Amino acid sequence: MKILKFGGTSVGSAERMKAVASLILNGEPKIVVLSAMSGTTNALVQIAETLYQNKHDEAKALIQALHDKYKQVVEELYTSDEKKKQANELLKQHFEYLNAFTLDLFTIHEERAVLAQGELLSTALFQFYLEEQGEKSVLLPALNFMKVDENEEPDSAYIAQQLQKELEKHPGVELFITQGYICRNAFGEIDNLKRGGSDYSASLIGAAVDAQEIQIWTDIDGMHNNDPRIVKNTHPIAELSFDEAAELAYFGAKILHPSSVKPAKQKNIPVKLLNTMQPEAKGTTISTKTESGKIKAVAAKDGIIAIKIKSGRMLLAYGFLRSVFEVFERYKTPIDMITTSEVAVSLTIDNAKHLNEILAELKEFGQVEVDQDQTIVCVVGDFIAERSGSGLAVFQSLQNIPLRMISYGGSKNNISVLVNTSDKIEALTKLNDGIFNGNEAHA
Ligand code: ASP
Ligand code: MG
Repeated sequence: MKILKFGGTSVGSAERMKAVASLILNGEPKIVVLSAMSGTTNALVQIAETLYQNKHDEAKALIQALHDKYKQVVEELYTSDEKKKQANELLKQHFEYLNAFTLDLFTIHEERAVLAQGELLSTALFQFYLEEQGEKSVLLPALNFMKVDENEEPDSAYIAQQLQKELEKHPGVELFITQGYICRNAFGEIDNLKRGGSDYSASLIGAAVDAQEIQIWTDIDGMHNNDPRIVKNTHPIAELSFDEAAELAYFGAKILHPSSVKPAKQKNIPVKLLNTMQPEAKGTTISTKTESGKIKAVAAKDGIIAIKIKSGRMLLAYGFLRSVFEVFERYKTPIDMITTSEVAVSLTIDNAKHLNEILAELKEFGQVEVDQDQTIVCVVGDFIAERSGSGLAVFQSLQNIPLRMISYGGSKNNISVLVNTSDKIEALTKLNDGIFNGNEAHA
């Protein structure tokens, strides 16, 4: 069994949906995971914001505009009047459901139900299209098997068991369609795996059925060695290890949801990043295999906050770092980078939700300084933090840029530096010149 996930742009129009159908119809057993059509989740977020503010007329207008867009898709996607009628009936149900929220109190629960409509629509419309083409496929409701626990972590045992049950209901069927992103939470309510979470759905589904391969289809030909939006002449990386891919996904390569590496790694299922606009391109394969001893890529993550805690109590003391980390743990705020000296510790976070509470507690340990608008620039490869010379190439490239923090040796896959976001473009460009364009002395 293979898992194929198609992102928003890949199913972004009637034409794109037809292209996806032709890609998947090759007789191999598979589960196809779809995102919402591009723009839909953003539109739903906007509708939810408007509803929170009780701007009901505005919400209705937004809902109407989205409905009109989908009516157009139906017009273009199907040929028979019968299917068009069936699809328009489905749209009517979903948009009436959305409109009903303009009458009620709007809370986080309603918001999640609103956000779920995008994937419910894309998959239902796609399934209708396959039916019209005479293909034998089944729509699996993700809300029947995808689940997170009270810590918002996927409940793998439940997912595997329930998904198996769903599949067993359809003996002889080899093509399944299901929604990415949406799930149920510990209370059985509709919830989601956070923005971009469809990749995570695909990987969780892959792990649940012990898939042979997980394919993530997007509109770019794999993970690139640098940010193609910022740096010219980037190229796709053919092979990455799970760990390298996790670092890159986490530190900025937008193509893959960072959490999606873990389930695949645990079950040792190769993940392929492929391009629907260029299906023959090799893309990137993430597996245990990687080209060793090489710098693979550079990525950057914005929106980082650096916090420095300076304390006389740290000198020659034990247990100090633990007390600092416990503050972050209490506020469920992950720490990304850490550097220490004997009297101070600097660390970074990207989630400012509880920043004020965290700072208030940290002030009890000593002097606290905060720097906003920071960017982590991360250099990823195999053994780069163990081979002599790797650091030199990185730091020589960055010699004119002030580095707020440096993290080296934490894993063998990564050297990270923290810079002001205003220096990001220069940092990525200089690293590209220094590492990938000719000067590969260390590789
Ligand atoms: N549709 C959701 C989003 O835009 C999930 C996804 O596409 O991965 O975030
Ligand atoms: Mg995505």
